[in-house]
Amino acid sequence: MNDKTKNRWSWVEVDLAAIRHNINAAKQAIGRNTRLLAVVKANAYGHGAVEVAKTAVKCGAAYLGIATVNEGIELREAGIDQNILLLSQPPETAIPDLVNFNIMPSIYTPEFAIQYAEYADKKQKKAPYHLVINTGMNRIGVRYNEVLDFLKQTSFHRSLERMGTFTHFATADCEETLDFKRQYSNFCEAIDAMRASNFDPGIVHCANSAALFRYPETHFDMVRLGISLYGCYPCKEVEPLVDLKQAMSVKAKITDERILGVGEGVSYEMNYRARGAVKICTIPVGYADGLRRAFSSKIDFIYKGIKFPQVGNICMDQCMFEIDMNSAYAQENLDAQIGEEVIVMGSQGEACVSLEDLAAIAGTNTYEIACGFSRRMPIVYA
Ligand SMILES: *Cc1c(COP(=O)(O)O)cnc(C)c1O
Repeated sequence: MNDKTKNRWSWVEVDLAAIRHNINAAKQAIGRNTRLLAVVKANAYGHGAVEVAKTAVKCGAAYLGIATVNEGIELREAGIDQNILLLSQPPETAIPDLVNFNIMPSIYTPEFAIQYAEYADKKQKKAPYHLVINTGMNRIGVRYNEVLDFLKQTSFHRSLERMGTFTHFATADCEETLDFKRQYSNFCEAIDAMRASNFDPGIVHCANSAALFRYPETHFDMVRLGISLYGCYPCKEVEPLVDLKQAMSVKAKITDERILGVGEGVSYEMNYRARGAVKICTIPVGYADGLRRAFSSKIDFIYKGIKFPQVGNICMDQCMFEIDMNSAYAQENLDAQIGEEVIVMGSQGEACVSLEDLAAIAGTNTYEIACGFSRRMPIVYA
């Protein structure tokens, strides 16, 4: 038995071969002269930052992208020495950690840039950074037509080193392309203005997964591969363009089972009642494990290659599913027992429950569902 599952029968399984496959698919799409940044923020979208980062670096990722300084420290403490780009500007109190752990920030205020440079100078180090440009998403960044002001206010500082310049698209995964085109042209305008005034932008990058596959003109010097690194399609438009493999599955083992008679209820509020002879099996996965309560009675689990309906309200730590004892299949083949494996999310044979399926049921995106599962369940690498 895997050591990580010895105390509880539920876990997240991550297929590193799928991650390698997806990186190679992205590399095929971008060609040889474009670098790849692997986005491993939020514990690699729930897949485990250290293992995913090591895999990505082995497959040729030139950069790792993170969202918090502590995520960068975790990678450094695991011995990863690749370029790390923090995809935001942290509070100024984080500057010592940036310098000590060699984490490049994304910068958009001159005040932060100067303080960062002065601290690095004191430590006799350089202050490498990427400049963020706001081209229309209106989240972070120097406005695209005010970039020269920022540069004039900061360029005197000798330790500041602009390693790259980037923006982020708000709608690269949307059907409608007008807003994307506007952001793209604003970005080109800003980069051209920098070059015209002899400010080297360094590595120019803007593509997330959706832009990488849909819009080759966005590749520039580097692309930032996030959700598709993990095998999800950012939108239906990308499906015909690339073959991705979903890396994550969620598995559990049956912890209890019983046969109910007609009318007996299951779980809090008993809003499910048996319509006939059914077997109810319990697994140790609940909404505190990322299996959202809103999924109750709307999802299927896979047991022995067949889908069975989850029934009753999903509890914090456990939930139940049903095997209809009157179905021909159940009578011939199934006698579910404690200790047998169940797939909560993933595939087996022809049966599949994907992150996309769960996201659609919850009315959210695959990113949010993927992030949730490993907050409490351990990650096992296959
Ligand atoms: C999260 C993030 C990405 C990755 O986006 P995907 O849609 O997951 O590919 C890229 N760039 C920035 C700035 C991000 O914050």
